[in-house]
Amino acid sequence: MNNTVLLITSPRLLNHGGRSSISLSSKSQLLLDPFIPQANILRKRIARLNPPCNAPSTNTIFQHPKVRQQMTFCQLLETVCTAPEKKQIAYISAILTKCNLYDLFQRQQLFCMPCSSCMSPLYGNIIHAKCVQCPNSDTTLRFNPQILGGLGDEAGGFSCTRTSPHNFKISNRAFQSLLGRSAEQFAALAGREGTALMFKQLEQRIIWLRLTYVFMYRPEAEDVWLVDVLG
Ligand SMILES: [Zn+2]
Repeated sequence: MNNTVLLITSPRLLNHGGRSSISLSSKSQLLLDPFIPQANILRKRIARLNPPCNAPSTNTIFQHPKVRQQMTFCQLLETVCTAPEKKQIAYISAILTKCNLYDLFQRQQLFCMPCSSCMSPLYGNIIHAKCVQCPNSDTTLRFNPQILGGLGDEAGGFSCTRTSPHNFKISNRAFQSLLGRSAEQFAALAGREGTALMFKQLEQRIIWLRLTYVFMYRPEAEDVWLVDVLG
C-alpha cells in the first residue's frame, strides 16, 4: 500500500556529502502504521502530493434541496473556507471548455481506478480490470475524471481537473447526466465499429454548452463532489 507510515525510534542519522539519510541503530524500534495523530497528518499530505487516478464512488445519496443556491466557483470556495464544518450544495452555471472523451477512448483510458490491492493505477475501455501485479484482484473501473478537461463559470472562474491534484471528484450520476449513458453502456459500445466517431460527436455536442453543474462539499470527508449536471 502506498499510504504505509513507518515510525523509527532512535534512528541513526547519516550525512553523505551534504545528503542526509536515516538508518537503524541497535536501539531503534520500527513501528508499522502507528496509531498516532502525526501518522494521519502524513497520510493526508502524501494523498495531496500523489492523488489517486480516481476516487471510489461516494455512498452519500444526493437529493436536490428545495432551495437551490446559485454560486460561482469562487463563492463556493469562500463559503467552504468560512464554514468548513457545514455541508454545502452549490448550483454553478458553467461551460465545459475542454473535453477529453475522444482522446481517452483512443488511448484506452476511458475508465480508471487504483488497483484494489496495490493501488497502482489501472486504465481501460472496460469496466472490470485485473492488475498485472495482483492476478487475484478484480477492480471495477469508473469513468476517468480527466474526461472533464476544464470548466468555466459565469464569473470567468475556471476549474480544471487535468492540472495538479483534482480539485473535485465526479459521481457516476453526474457522468451519466452529462454523457447520457452509464459507464456499463459506454463499455458495451467501446468495442463496436464506428464508436470513435460517436465519441467525437458526443464531445462536440457537450463542449461549450452552458449547463448547471451541481457540487456538494462534504465536511466529514473534506472533499467536493460534482454530484449532478442539469440541462
Ligand atoms: Zn495491483
